[in-house]
Amino acid sequence: MRIWNWVSETWRAWESTLPHCAEAGCRAGSKLGLRRAGLELQGRWYCSPQCVEKAVRRYFMRSAVAVLPTPRAQHRIPLGLLMLSRGELENSQLRSALAAQRSDGGGRIGEWLVKLGYATEPQITTALGLQWACPVVPPPLARGDLESAGLLPYRLMQQFRMLPIYFSRANRVIYVAFSESVDYTALYAIEQLLECRSEACVTGSCAMSQALETLGRARRSGELLFEGWRSVEEMARTTCGCMLKMGARTIRTVACGAYIWVRLKANDEQVDLLFRRTEAQPGGVEAGQDEKPLIPARPSRVS
Ligand SMILES: [Zn+2]
Repeated sequence: MRIWNWVSETWRAWESTLPHCAEAGCRAGSKLGLRRAGLELQGRWYCSPQCVEKAVRRYFMRSAVAVLPTPRAQHRIPLGLLMLSRGELENSQLRSALAAQRSDGGGRIGEWLVKLGYATEPQITTALGLQWACPVVPPPLARGDLESAGLLPYRLMQQFRMLPIYFSRANRVIYVAFSESVDYTALYAIEQLLECRSEACVTGSCAMSQALETLGRARRSGELLFEGWRSVEEMARTTCGCMLKMGARTIRTVACGAYIWVRLKANDEQVDLLFRRTEAQPGGVEAGQDEKPLIPARPSRVS
C-alpha cells in the first residue's frame, strides 16, 4: 500500500510539471496523448482547436471594439515652431503655410512648408527627428533595405506610414521608421505580437512613399484581409479554420490601429490575418467579455 501511495504521488508530481490546457474547465488537457499535440496562443498551451477557438473568441471580444483615433501627443513642440526656433523658418513663412493648411482643410504642416518652397524635405525630416527625439535614418531605397518589411503586414505599414528597417535577432529589437509621426500604440502592438522590443526612428516622407509603393506592388501571399466579418464567433472560426488548414502551431493576436492582427505560425510558414475593426464612434466603446459582438455592415471580402 505504501508503495502504491509513493507511485501515485510521484506520478502526480511528474504530471503537474507537464503543461495543462489553459482553457478553464478543460479536462482533456491532462490526457498524456494530447501533450505532444495542441497549440500555443499568446504563449499559453491549449490541448485542441476547440479550446483554442474558445480562447481566441475571448481575445477577439476584447479587441473588436471600435477603433478610437490615436490621441495626439500634445507635449511635442509643433514642427513649425521648432523650425522657427532653430532659425530655419521665418514667422511670415510659417503663417502663410498655416493659412494654406487651414484653407485647404488638411495636410501636414511639413508638407505645406515643402510645397511652398520654405523648407526642404531633409529639413522637415531632421525637425521631425528632433520633435520625436528619434534618430533620422537614411531612406530605405535599396531592395535589401526592405527585407525587414516582411516582419509586418503591409496594411499596417500603410496605415501608420511605418517601415521596419532592421531586426536584431540577438537582442530581439525591431527598429521601425516613421515618416509623419511616431505612433507608440503601433509600436506597442508590434512588441506584443513579435515578442520583442521596439525602437522608433524617422525617415523622409518621399522615401517612405516610394518604399510603400514598392512593397504594395510585391505579391503578398502571407497576408489575408477580412473586412466583412459578422461576429466575434465568425472571426474565431475563420482563424481556427486557417490555423487547421496550414497546420499552425502558434497563434498570437493583438489589436493594432484599424485592425485585429492575428499571426499564425507553422514550422516553415507564417500567415497574417487582418480583421478590420469598425469605425470609431463618438465617445468610444468599451467592450467587455459579456458584450454582444459588433456587426459591421460591409460585405465580406477577402484579398
Ligand atoms: Zn483543452
